[in-house]
Amino acid sequence: MAKTVIALRDLRGLTIPEPLAAPSAPMADRRARPLHDLRISVTDRCNFRCTYCMPKDVFGADYEFLPHDEILSFEEIVRMARIFHGLGTEKIRLTGGEPLMRKGIERLVAMLREALPAVDLTLTTNGSALKAKARALKAAGLDRVTVSLDSLDDATFRAMNDVDFPVAKVLEGIDAAADAGLAPIKVNMVVKRGVNDRQVIDMARRFKGTGHIVRFIEFMDVGSTNHWRMDDVIPSEQVVRLISGQFAIEPANANYAGEVAERWKYLDGSGEVGVISSVTQAFCGTCTRARLSTDGQLFTCLFAQRGYDLKALMRAGRDDEEIRGAVAAIWAGRNDHYSEIRTAETARSRKIEMSYIGG
Ligand code: SAM
Repeated sequence: MAKTVIALRDLRGLTIPEPLAAPSAPMADRRARPLHDLRISVTDRCNFRCTYCMPKDVFGADYEFLPHDEILSFEEIVRMARIFHGLGTEKIRLTGGEPLMRKGIERLVAMLREALPAVDLTLTTNGSALKAKARALKAAGLDRVTVSLDSLDDATFRAMNDVDFPVAKVLEGIDAAADAGLAPIKVNMVVKRGVNDRQVIDMARRFKGTGHIVRFIEFMDVGSTNHWRMDDVIPSEQVVRLISGQFAIEPANANYAGEVAERWKYLDGSGEVGVISSVTQAFCGTCTRARLSTDGQLFTCLFAQRGYDLKALMRAGRDDEEIRGAVAAIWAGRNDHYSEIRTAETARSRKIEMSYIGG
């Protein structure tokens, strides 16, 4: 058993009860959740300063992003993806920061596709560079994209991204992604009370019948810099009520176990919308996601305070089997269920920023 067991105490002082000797897929954590998805943050930088995610007062001109030698190389990312795939991961999402800002992102997509031909490979983007990159991303082997768009009202959107970026350019990006075949496209809208909650219906109407799926996301207490307050959260239940006041909808079954969005279909057959209720209806019980930060820390919860330093293992010359043993042991010991135990107190605790851990 000796070789596959990593001294997990070395990984930033976090300990795991029982290291695994011979991990085999599929494996599950202490709450019987498999390791199905991996989100990889490929950069901690973003060209937007969304007020609820990377507010300018924190991520200003003097903010120190990770230096280049601290971030995982493409080869290291592919190596980690292979190891996770060997432990049961079937879906990989590239995110950030803004993943399209990572130089050569198309090359990373091609490398991942070559290494893992059958994996479901997706990317979440603010859409600002999608018009320029959609075709190349598809050609490199990307399956789909999710585009974040918080409002169709230009003034509201420019204020929310806080860099004066226009709605029209994101819409062009969505069109380019559709033309390239990166479909079905999901459009994510974070709904914040008093900011964009009056634009829910417009958003639903704009994409109804297009094949794109709008998902309304509750404003979450990720990180420690976005001044989150429960009062600013519009519960998904309210969003569904608003939409059903305008269009006939009915609940639809999940596409697969662990799907985060609750699906609602238009009765006239013109598509569907989704709601993601991580604040008001915690879905920790079915959370099958691991997150790899830009600098190679493994996080087993979006709301975690600390990660496990897999980059250190790679750069210390550990072989794949040893790292696989470490990841398996970390997952086997996973017990987090933050959203189920959220209180005003935990919401105030210091957590990792979403731009770094990957949204
Ligand atoms: N830059 C890319 C983008 O804009 O989609 C990827 C990273 S971003 C962190 C991923 C997603 O997280 C976006 O849809 C964003 O709106 C969402 N997000 C960020 N902070 C959030 C928060 N506090 N609550 C809910 N969603 C949030």
